[in-house]
Amino acid sequence: TTQTAPGVAPVDVNAELFDRARRAIPGGVNSPVRAFGSVGGTPRFLVEARGATVTDVEGREYVDLVAGWGPAILGHADPRVIEAVQDAASRGLSFGASTPVETELAELIEERVSPVERLRLVSTGTEATMSAIRLARGFTGRDVVVKFAGHYHGHSDGLLAEAGSGLATFALPASAGVPADVTALTMVLPYNDLDAVRDAFAAHGDRIAAVITEAAAANMGVVPPEPGFNAALIELAHQHGALVISDEVLTGFRVSAGGWWGLENATEGPSVFANPGDQYLPDLMTFGKVIGGGMPVAALGGRADVMDLLAPSGPVYQAGTLSGNPVAVAAGLATLRAADDDVYARLDEAASVISSEVSRHLAAEGVAHAVQRAGNLFSFAFGEEVAGGVRDYAGVQRQEAWRYAPFFHAMLDAGVSLPPSVFEAWFVTAAHDDAVIERIVSALPAAAKAAAA
Ligand code: PLP
Repeated sequence: TTQTAPGVAPVDVNAELFDRARRAIPGGVNSPVRAFGSVGGTPRFLVEARGATVTDVEGREYVDLVAGWGPAILGHADPRVIEAVQDAASRGLSFGASTPVETELAELIEERVSPVERLRLVSTGTEATMSAIRLARGFTGRDVVVKFAGHYHGHSDGLLAEAGSGLATFALPASAGVPADVTALTMVLPYNDLDAVRDAFAAHGDRIAAVITEAAAANMGVVPPEPGFNAALIELAHQHGALVISDEVLTGFRVSAGGWWGLENATEGPSVFANPGDQYLPDLMTFGKVIGGGMPVAALGGRADVMDLLAPSGPVYQAGTLSGNPVAVAAGLATLRAADDDVYARLDEAASVISSEVSRHLAAEGVAHAVQRAGNLFSFAFGEEVAGGVRDYAGVQRQEAWRYAPFFHAMLDAGVSLPPSVFEAWFVTAAHDDAVIERIVSALPAAAKAAAA
């Protein structure tokens, strides 16, 4: 709230802008979670983001734990990225033709994530998963897609599907405007439940083109795959001639230089494969967020024999006016090149300290909770019932979600901007240094009290 002049009533600029936005834009926002629907109150209208902070239109600075929903691993407005964007922009915004940098970005991703032998750039994660599914259908000649409850893969029709009643094998629309005939080609299974996957393949294996899975689920809060789940999923799918699409739009190049795939493949442990020596190799992978460094870049990639079915080398159509946009690709390349071991070490450290401090303060106020963690992604599930941790969407829904809104607002009042929903991951950046973390920690006592009330 801003004091305009002595004696004049304070003006809530954010509230005024939100009113105005609601008259011009449905719900006042261009993506639903921004409207603060699940925490209430007035969204902040941001005008600047730098390092670990964002600044609203009233000039108030907040420590940011949203990081643009993932891309800003280096911190906002990293000078190397801004310079690359300015340099690219000075040479033209969009050519609608090939550029050298697209190949550089594809090569860099292929180098770091070995299941990716070819890569096609698109502009959003939604496009990436939608195209990956079309490709899997084109490759297998089958129609059915399996997804997991609580996983988000963007808003294409067939993926806006939710499980029906216990008897219904195929899914129902999760949004108005999605035809039931479309979701009838999607099966929604409980996450981390290999028996459900086995049953689905036993009953419908010859119709299933692909299983799509978040490499580690982070769109229902964070719910990591149980050890061996991803590998066993791939093995099962392959036994039935289906592909696996590992969606790393959120995890890719955030949780490690090789994304979730890189983390799991680096993990020593007992083999979950029937044939020792097999590898955890998804057929297709999708990326977004970090690979655009805050600009609209996403991608699908994977096995060369599958990817080469894309137009123009193959019969599966896919295209985009802005695909591989030179300014956007410059931001992505600069981000990935700057993301060295020190960056990932800092992200891991910040995630560890912040999550354990939040946990410590909640515990001090007697708020039962679980810290849900997947690499440097984390979130909290509230309540006695979930304090042992959750492994699927049904588990996530058993929590006392209402405890989050007062927690969120206490943090916001203290100058810390959290994701405005308990069902979102918290994102750190390499700019979350000790001083920034101290600002977060000092806000926690009051927030934990608010959550306890
Ligand atoms: N897949 C995953 C795992 C995501 O987290 C998201 C977005 O949050 C998407 C796909 C969709 O990406 P976009 O919002 O760029 O369309």
